[in-house]
Amino acid sequence: MGDVKSIWAKCLQIIRSDISEQSFKTWFEPITPVKIQNFTLTIQVPSQFFFEWLEENYVNQLRKAIDQTIGRNGMLEYSVIVDKGDDKKPPITYNLPNQKKPNSNQFAQQKTAEPDIYKSPFLMKDLDSLALDSYLNPHYTFDNFIEGECNRLARSAGFAVANKPGSTSFNPLMIYGGVGLGKTHVVQSIGNFIKQNFQNKFVLYVTSEKFTNQFIKAIQENSVQAFTNFYMHIDVLIIDDVQFFEKKERTQEIFFHIFNHLHQSGKQIIMTSDRPPRELTGLEDRLLSRFKWGLTADLQTPDFETRIAIILKKLQADGIEIEYQVIEYLAHSVNTNVRELEGVIISLMAHASLNRSHISLDLAKSVLKNIVEDTGKEVTIETIIDMVVEYYKVSKELVKGKGRQKEIVLPRQMAMYLAKEFTDLSLKSIGWHFGGRDHSTVIHSIQSITDTIATDKDLKGTLIQFERELGR
Ligand code: ADP
Ligand code: MG
Repeated sequence: MGDVKSIWAKCLQIIRSDISEQSFKTWFEPITPVKIQNFTLTIQVPSQFFFEWLEENYVNQLRKAIDQTIGRNGMLEYSVIVDKGDDKKPPITYNLPNQKKPNSNQFAQQKTAEPDIYKSPFLMKDLDSLALDSYLNPHYTFDNFIEGECNRLARSAGFAVANKPGSTSFNPLMIYGGVGLGKTHVVQSIGNFIKQNFQNKFVLYVTSEKFTNQFIKAIQENSVQAFTNFYMHIDVLIIDDVQFFEKKERTQEIFFHIFNHLHQSGKQIIMTSDRPPRELTGLEDRLLSRFKWGLTADLQTPDFETRIAIILKKLQADGIEIEYQVIEYLAHSVNTNVRELEGVIISLMAHASLNRSHISLDLAKSVLKNIVEDTGKEVTIETIIDMVVEYYKVSKELVKGKGRQKEIVLPRQMAMYLAKEFTDLSLKSIGWHFGGRDHSTVIHSIQSITDTIATDKDLKGTLIQFERELGR
């Protein structure tokens, strides 16, 4: 089997190929392998929070890595460094086997159990004997879903369906929207609510990808009938990311039959998609026309106030307090989607926990910058400002401040212009980064640069140089 270091190195290799580079750096690089004994690998993690995060988010990857290095009977044990806040004393460690904890929630149990592929419930003969698992994550609830203009319709339609599954006109309910905007959260909230309040209803959450794989497996194993029967017994079917069905004709066909059966029997169907149904070009018309029977609601990018509320809620849930200026900074700097926003908060918490520091504005800035550098795809306002002040040899504080000194007017206008061009930030957010100026000032700055470069060749040259540096 080898020594602990080489086993862990192999595990890392396996995990690395499964997750993003950023997640890998944040969550796996800080781990130290400790020992291997009786098929049990012990790893040391920096905090309780870190351990919980791994268990909740990476248990499948860890399981796979253990399976492939130690074998199916391999076990993982965590040694958590308990930080007592006293630098002189060495850290205390205690061990946590990663097994079912008696009081752990259903989600954790489901995830720590054998991987889904060995379970395939529809292959079992006696449906009644099934411990019906809904595959819901109990953390997704209506309570912790922040309502805003961006999601009002989807949320209230979802809530109506949750209260009267199968008996509203919202059947099917189709929620669509871009990545990370809360589709899975909304539909899982519906499922959790129904499970709580209608205990005799069988709720099932499945991704379209998993549905497809189960179907393919059923074909191979000659058990398509059992597969169909299983799905036809469901009271509330939640099927996530139906865009995955595009161009998969046979899966669409079986889904069409299941859909019709459930709909006719007054069962509730809930779906999500990353785009509106009319843009699902690889789906058959007859299926698409069914989707229109109910209600289609979209989720949009949250506005500034909703972003603030989401950050506050997230921090509150983790019992973390940070200064308002940091929260405001985050809300003004990450506005693509909620998942990204959460990712930044989580990295921040991880960094703070690793460095045993509190979450300051400087930490927030540097974490944000690293994330962007690592993914290499986006330019942040911080990169832009750094580049501009370096070129003009002016002080960053002055450029970001309220002052109107002559020498910083042009650099500030240039930075605003580039921020508009290279980031998704709103004019309001751009203004906020420059001494809290309002959006009309930002418009004025952009206009001024646009006017000047029309005649001033030098400035035009400088702009092109900046644009190149930012990857255009
Ligand atoms: P999608 O399925 O659309 O890609 P998710 O439902 O997975 O997005 O949401 C991404 C993350 O953002 C989840 O952790 C979710 O809890 C969170 N989230 C999204 N919208 C909200 C919201 N309005 N309030 C609180 N959390 C949200
Ligand atoms: Mg999703």
